[in-house]
Amino acid sequence: MKTQVKALVVGGGAVGTSIAYHLAHAGWDDVMLLERDELTSGSTWHAAGLLPYFNMSFATTHIHDYSIRFYKTLEEETGLNAGFAVVGNLRMAQTQERMDEYMLYASTAETCGVPYQWMTPDEIKAKWPLIRTEDLKGALYHHTDGYINPADVTMAMAKGARQRGVAIERKWQADAFHWTGTHWEVTATKMVEKGGNLVPSDEQVVITAEHVVTASGNHAQRTAQMLGIKIPAIPVEHQFIVMDQDPDLVKFRAEGHVEHPVIRDADAQSYVREERGGWILGVYEQNAPARFEYGVPDSFRADLFQLDLERIEEQYLAMIHRIPSCEESGLKDDFNGPICYTPDGNPLVGPAPGLRNMWLAEGFSFGITAAGGTGYYLAQLMVEGEAEIDMASLDPKRYGDWMTTEFAARKNEECYSHVYILHHPDEERPACRPLRTSPAYDRQAARGAQFGWVNGWERPNYFGPLDAPESFDHDARSFRRGGWWQYAVEEAKAIREGVGLIDATAFTKHLLKGPGATQFLDWFTCNKLPKVGRINLTYALTPHGTTRTEYTIVRLGEDEYYLVSAGAWTAYDADYLRKAIEDKAPEFGYIECHDVTTQWGVFAIAGPKSRDVLNALVKDAEPSTVLSNKRFPWLSMRNIELGMCPVRAIRVAYTGELGWELHHPIEMQNYLFDQLEKAGEKHGMKLVGARAQNWLRQEKSYRAFGTELGRDATPLEADLPRFIDLSKDFHGKARLEETGVRSKCVTLLIDGPPDADPWGREVLYHGQTRVGRLTSGGYSVAFGKSIGMGYVSPDLAVPGTRLKVKMLDQLWDAEITEDSPYDPRNERIRMDG
Ligand SMILES: Cc1cc2nc3c(=O)[nH]c(=O)nc-3n(C[C@H](O)[C@H](O)[C@H](O)COP(=O)(O)OP(=O)(O)OC[C@H]3O[C@@H](n4cnc5c(N)ncnc54)[C@H](O)[C@@H]3O)c2cc1C
Repeated sequence: MKTQVKALVVGGGAVGTSIAYHLAHAGWDDVMLLERDELTSGSTWHAAGLLPYFNMSFATTHIHDYSIRFYKTLEEETGLNAGFAVVGNLRMAQTQERMDEYMLYASTAETCGVPYQWMTPDEIKAKWPLIRTEDLKGALYHHTDGYINPADVTMAMAKGARQRGVAIERKWQADAFHWTGTHWEVTATKMVEKGGNLVPSDEQVVITAEHVVTASGNHAQRTAQMLGIKIPAIPVEHQFIVMDQDPDLVKFRAEGHVEHPVIRDADAQSYVREERGGWILGVYEQNAPARFEYGVPDSFRADLFQLDLERIEEQYLAMIHRIPSCEESGLKDDFNGPICYTPDGNPLVGPAPGLRNMWLAEGFSFGITAAGGTGYYLAQLMVEGEAEIDMASLDPKRYGDWMTTEFAARKNEECYSHVYILHHPDEERPACRPLRTSPAYDRQAARGAQFGWVNGWERPNYFGPLDAPESFDHDARSFRRGGWWQYAVEEAKAIREGVGLIDATAFTKHLLKGPGATQFLDWFTCNKLPKVGRINLTYALTPHGTTRTEYTIVRLGEDEYYLVSAGAWTAYDADYLRKAIEDKAPEFGYIECHDVTTQWGVFAIAGPKSRDVLNALVKDAEPSTVLSNKRFPWLSMRNIELGMCPVRAIRVAYTGELGWELHHPIEMQNYLFDQLEKAGEKHGMKLVGARAQNWLRQEKSYRAFGTELGRDATPLEADLPRFIDLSKDFHGKARLEETGVRSKCVTLLIDGPPDADPWGREVLYHGQTRVGRLTSGGYSVAFGKSIGMGYVSPDLAVPGTRLKVKMLDQLWDAEITEDSPYDPRNERIRMDG
């Protein structure tokens, strides 16, 4: 066994094996994989092997697409047939809402080049007469996917990996990890059989590895403990049953018909596929419990839990309804195995928080589907420093230190039971809430706030009726304009015409100071640093010159800075910042960095009357001028006093109106809220939620992190040259310049359907040609029509270009506008008074 390698992969399931394969494929010739038992002995062996394309996320769709294409090539490379049955995948809809969901998904699929077609109930019946169709609205059909044998595909990847020089060591368990400062020392223990259990022997080796990847499946909690980090990957029970032969199916096939596609009856929470003349029924039922919250017992190896038939009775009856011929078929076999989940259903793939050269690939619930693509893109990340796609939505640091085992377990159970719900883009899930609340939460709730979940925080999405029933927000959801839409319209108008107050407490905030702080930030971010008392918008880049974090930098002193970034990404931003500081402090000098996110509350007040509201509260020797342009210009900061509350006021407004962000001590939030509310009464101030704010910022072409800004585009591609100082040297600059502009960010006004706005996932056409995609969408109160932002090929990124947006399966007119179609000269933001 080797004791020194470049990369050590821990875990020989589908995911770990694919990562080892792809690291070798990407050129690393010294890769070893450790598996504590046998390859595939985790969840992989008992997976049903379905390879569904369907996923509402752009990154995950790319991952699934790569897997499906890659698995088709494996036999040629390895000589092993992985049993890929390309039978297609039929996703049926019983309601118009489900069709709306598929239409949104299909538009996303097109942005990734994933093929699909629509089928009517009659077309389904004509092709597959065993399926009952009279209660269906239609279906979405992917003819290129199907199912595969999970163990065989893993073995094929293992063979391919070995052929490329990967060493695979079975019956060795990684038991301890130690970072020396330059590499990892991993203690591995030889595992032996004892009384049917797999137990550690006395034989141990220490393996030196430059990089370690963990793909430990259901053992993620043990891995987390060994690494001293948190990983919210905890399995949930998942069942499927195999039924005896169905005589009608046997006859149908004997007549020469091809195999049925995988049949997904999403409204009945189940999938069905053929298996030797019978059917397999898999379900995503309610009340499936989380397992192994504190680790997998030694006694649980390639084992299963007992079948719980009662729990899946409803889905079983629904299957008999859908395929009546199976009613007499008996139960032949059953599987109830642990399937790893995460709170949002996406796996955790990327650098581990706080650790160097430690990569996680944990929490896979569709791990057979995702293994190929995960290996490919993670290898890019490790070998080249970045992947072609933005991996942020999979990054392990999207949950912070506030996350607990109890949270992960309950949220994972919820996620499992939500697999087949309607995936409304405006969905909010109820489990484990409220958890992180700012002090004004109760006051906002009393005023009708309907909250959204941001990194655990409760943040008002919009303010609904005061007497709203508990189900109000649930019932307000839609793929079109939901029941909340009118409230957001009123809120957006309030900011354009009067004044509104937005809770932005969830913002990530860091304080950076010390002798090395200025030089460090000058290198770390791409814009000029602001002068003392001023503010700049700037970007920290990846080594590939794409956007890693967007910062509002406030310069508090010569060597003291207050950094504000997106609320959803606190741990993600903190990790990158801290690692960069560690690397650069020896060069630039001592730098202190504090995450002060939970110490500061933030209210954003905006609208032409916002100064009037603040004037009534501000305490100053000359209160009438303290907020004037002369004393408090746009893009500057002042410490002011609002009544008895000390406020770090920042003159910026993400809505594009006159406004200030009021950063205040969190413990004074309720005092400040009451003062603002009282002073605002006279001016008709409205409480405003995140949805209206999201629309307003699009009228100003303000890019948002996670949509327009991410690791797949440079700030030049985001068309933000004014925030890049090419005269200085900064991290990622060379690659930014080298990359050029592959596609460009634009704003579009859209003549869409009368009852729907885009969500920011839709495909864009120019004539018959697919030319880009939306990354944001919504409604513009200023223009009275839909609005969106997105990326198109640079030659088309010219104001006046007419494109089409695909919404609800139709193409709608859209026109590229000037940047900032609303108040392009920023006169409203600069308004004096
Ligand atoms: C009933 C059921 C049906 C499913 N159907 C599908 C499906 O149709 N399609 C689909 O895409 N997915 C399906 N899944 C999910 C799929 O099985 C998993 O997502 C996938 O197997 C995860 O692969 P993995 O490599 O991450 O984990 P695993 O297969 O669990 O592999 C992890 C491996 O790591 C090893 N290991 C752990 N810790 C250590 C250590 N310290 N040292 C050495 N080795 C270690 C374990 O022994 C294990 O072999 C299903 C799951 C279930 C339960």
